[in-house]
Amino acid sequence: MTDDAFSCRCCGSRNRATVLDMGSVPLANDFVAPGDEVGDAFRAPLALVMCRDCCLIQLESLVDRERLFSNYLWVTGTSQAAAQHAPWLAQRLSDRYLETKGNVLVEIASNDGFFLRHYRDAGFRILGVDPSNVALDADAAGLTSIRGFFGSDIARDIVSKHGEANVIVARNVLGHSSELRDLIAGAALLLAEGGRFVIEHPYAYLMREEVQYDQIFHEHVSYPTVQSLANLLEQFNLKIVDVEFAPMNGGSVLLEAAHEGDPAPEAGLEMRAFENFIQLNEPEGWAGFRRAVHRQRDALRELLEQLADEGKVVVGYGAAAKCMTMLNYCYIDTKLVSAFGDANPRKQGLLCPGVRIPVVSPEDLVALNPDYILLGAWNLQTEIVKQFREEWGFQGKFICPVPMPEIL
Ligand SMILES: [Zn+2]
Repeated sequence: MTDDAFSCRCCGSRNRATVLDMGSVPLANDFVAPGDEVGDAFRAPLALVMCRDCCLIQLESLVDRERLFSNYLWVTGTSQAAAQHAPWLAQRLSDRYLETKGNVLVEIASNDGFFLRHYRDAGFRILGVDPSNVALDADAAGLTSIRGFFGSDIARDIVSKHGEANVIVARNVLGHSSELRDLIAGAALLLAEGGRFVIEHPYAYLMREEVQYDQIFHEHVSYPTVQSLANLLEQFNLKIVDVEFAPMNGGSVLLEAAHEGDPAPEAGLEMRAFENFIQLNEPEGWAGFRRAVHRQRDALRELLEQLADEGKVVVGYGAAAKCMTMLNYCYIDTKLVSAFGDANPRKQGLLCPGVRIPVVSPEDLVALNPDYILLGAWNLQTEIVKQFREEWGFQGKFICPVPMPEIL
């Protein structure tokens, strides 16, 4: 946990520069029951650094991954955005590869099996891999997954029992992996000749440009750019052959990698040139981001304190892990936000880690007659606003916290 233990998760270098230091904060998934005085007492440093050698942006120190994921509360199927994205991605992969590459699809971090079901329905033979307790739901629904952290050991195991994979999907998982090199090594081992390794991850460019610092929490170990990802893949003889944007998680990159010898030409070279032009892969290029985060924190606190002084009822909606970082970093507790709504029943009845704001159902939130709702999951803003207006008749206002707090 000390700084001296740092070595880059991509290249092993110890040479790094600080991008943003957020101090010591609770873990974003340490929701506690009322009366539990110790369940969220753990604090860990949260500092973002950039490797000066391979430019991968990553956390300086890590929390033990069993500690992070054993009580994981994120369930893919609860998001409407995922509900739209899953059939789209399944159809795209089926159109592109089912006939030409083969039908074995392995999903890394398959969570509750929500996407697996769509890949299966699109015609693939599916296998998931996931370390968390949430995957038990997938097994119960007949969407088989191997319990564990995907890496070269599990990859070898899959190859011996099921053969190589034609398509490997890793959505939103590279950033979570503390063993990034082993994950990529496993994918390279498992990927059949001519196969595609499909990677989707939040794009550090958008985090910088839109001040999405709530993407930074202990589970998110690294924050790839196209350049840093290309550097990583290259070490395992993989190359990027397709890259585009996807509107998930505040803006993601969807890219496909293939073995070095694949006939498909390398893609994403223009994006890498653009990234270098805007200094995305240099520590100096992040100074403005650091200043913007400090400004955002001051502005959000000022706004919420002003509303509290005016006697307004302010609540939040979307107790996403990302939001917990922002609440703790900005010291927002029940004096400023009296309750947080969340559609995930696993979170309802618990208290937000550190700041101890109670989490309630959306219906109970509306029953509090709030004047303002702070959008915790601002990336799902459109669907949340629509739902509150149309389903629950909410007449008040919304506060979108990033890039700078804004009343809607
Ligand atoms: Zn490095």
